[in-house]
Amino acid sequence: MDNRWSAAEAAQFVFRYAPRWGEALALRTYSSRLLGGERALVLHGGGNTSVKGEWLNLLGEKIPAIFVKASGWNLAGIEPEGHSPLALDFLQRLQGLATLGDAEMVQALRANLLDPAAATPSIETLLHVFLPHTFIDHTHADAILTLTNQVGGAALIAEALGDEVIVLPYVHPGFALSLAVAEAFAKAPHSRAMVLMQHGLLTWGETAQESYAAMVALVNRAERFIAQRLHLPPPVARVTLAEARQRYAELAPRLRGALAVKTEDADHPWQRFVLRPLITEEILALLGTGERRELLLSPPLTTDHLIRIKPLPLWLEAQDTEGIQAAVEGYRQAYRAYLQREGAAETGMPPPEQLFDSSPRLIFMPGVGVVCAGHTSADAEIARDLAVQTLAVKGVIARMGGQYEGVTPQAQFAMEYYGPQRAKLAPGGALPLGQRVALVTGAAGAIGSGICRVLLEQGCHLAVVDLPGEGLDSLTVELQSAHGGRVVPVAMDVTDAQSVASGLREVIQKWGGLDLLILNAGLAHVSSLEEMQSEAFQRLQRVNVEGTLHLLSAAARHFRCQGTGGDVVLISTKNVFAPGANFGAYSATKAAAHQLARIASLELAALDVRVNMVAPDGVFSDGKRSSGLWAEVGPDRMRARGLDAAGLESYYQNRNLLKARITATHVARAVLFFATRQTPSTGVTLPVDGGLPDATPR
Ligand code: ZN
Repeated sequence: MDNRWSAAEAAQFVFRYAPRWGEALALRTYSSRLLGGERALVLHGGGNTSVKGEWLNLLGEKIPAIFVKASGWNLAGIEPEGHSPLALDFLQRLQGLATLGDAEMVQALRANLLDPAAATPSIETLLHVFLPHTFIDHTHADAILTLTNQVGGAALIAEALGDEVIVLPYVHPGFALSLAVAEAFAKAPHSRAMVLMQHGLLTWGETAQESYAAMVALVNRAERFIAQRLHLPPPVARVTLAEARQRYAELAPRLRGALAVKTEDADHPWQRFVLRPLITEEILALLGTGERRELLLSPPLTTDHLIRIKPLPLWLEAQDTEGIQAAVEGYRQAYRAYLQREGAAETGMPPPEQLFDSSPRLIFMPGVGVVCAGHTSADAEIARDLAVQTLAVKGVIARMGGQYEGVTPQAQFAMEYYGPQRAKLAPGGALPLGQRVALVTGAAGAIGSGICRVLLEQGCHLAVVDLPGEGLDSLTVELQSAHGGRVVPVAMDVTDAQSVASGLREVIQKWGGLDLLILNAGLAHVSSLEEMQSEAFQRLQRVNVEGTLHLLSAAARHFRCQGTGGDVVLISTKNVFAPGANFGAYSATKAAAHQLARIASLELAALDVRVNMVAPDGVFSDGKRSSGLWAEVGPDRMRARGLDAAGLESYYQNRNLLKARITATHVARAVLFFATRQTPSTGVTLPVDGGLPDATPR
């Protein structure tokens, strides 16, 4: 690890931030970012920093203050306001208390914020307060955890880092740890750093640079020490990445189905998970065929990982549905037993509404990889990053010939159910489709893009499906800029069953399964029957009918395998009920697609798959995207009626009862009605046409 401190960069931070925030906080911001930029030091809020200084109050008085990293900020991109200002004097006096409860501690921190709008500071704030140094840096560095999490770890740390470094046994974070740190330092006031067993490293200094340099130097010493003791060769993978990925694509829907938790609500019967796989050669090698099972089934590296990955992973070798379900159920029973045992022994069971669900977050599958689960892809990705770190560290311990030692189950329970930790997971308004994975065909068209937008606004994970090309690319860029990792583009030709199968596999590899299918791809053609070219008719037949069939077939097989129901919405048309002259190919093929969807509603009801239709009248465009259907039909209709584009649009508007202009958003809202399962409906059609009595389904 390099010391990346640069005098020029430091000067830039001072130039940019010091006028408003002061030089100390400007440099605190700089070195915090340097720490946050090292994945071997800090992951997902897993470190914190502070600086002591002064605060100018309204009376012009300078009062002693400490600025501590606030919850919700990551060091990597921290700004000066990411360190919350607190009144130092009062907080220092808390050191005189024998005990302090979690709720009281958080209350004291909030009550002593010098800016009431500042975010709640880290739960490790008092540790920063009780130490005397100006700058304090704290990380959960990989190399330090590699040494602390072994039998005999304290001796290894002393050997690696020398006797100027204090070693403190594991203590539950919060007030007790802060006191223990202060007492340990008081006994060795000339030490330059402190290692917290099964937790991390504290360094300090009178300047930001000094504290940062100590962190890098000590981690480097630990890394060198470890490198000299890697007596055993790294394991070698016995399966190829391609084999593992293939197996994962087959297993993921079954695993996702087994992980889903049944609810009491018949319309929303499942709490679902989104899966993110971790399949690399290193991971496959480490999982091997089970010889390192005991090591890998050990507790997390540090207790702040518990809220993300639970005390233990699930080891899963079964590959059939029953075997997977039995393994997941076994895990849940073991988790509940741990709660009973440790909850009763320690602080008592948390009230039922505060209990976490009992499903695993990391699933280790030899020959397949590690599967990371979360209620959203963002949660699953945090679990995945922690899994990468955890497995790397445990793998190194194995190569050192060491024996892993995590914290006790009692300490795990105390931290998993620690109030300030739980607060980090506060849901903050989960969205209606937040746990679901959807696929929209014909996404790059006007209606398709409108549906994508509305589903994403409701929290969906969305596969944006269309033929490869500019339309799909530009829509993807647009949607990803607003919704990031919840959007994946999938190039697919719906007329080709192979392309449909491989597209679905891509979605499964991305998020573990599929819950919601929107059949929107379609083609139009204008011709009288007298003039109809058979090739033109067949082109529509392939997209509108066979495309629908391919997707319904593939989705039906998937839904059966996953076992948690599903929803399908077909974008039908008012032409199914009120066909138009010169529109035979479109009306007939859409009618066939509509009929297939009705059949699907009959065949799939037993799987709790609901299949419904939305029947819009013409939609001209969605923002800058004009409808492909109208590009085909518009000019002819305009000619036939002697109208320009605006005139044609108002012609359509004026022919419905409500004189409504139909938009892609209207169609998308009808889709949302079915997707969110507002009523127990299947096989029904919802017109979106402003009222066209001739086209009303009956
Ligand atoms: Zn910590």
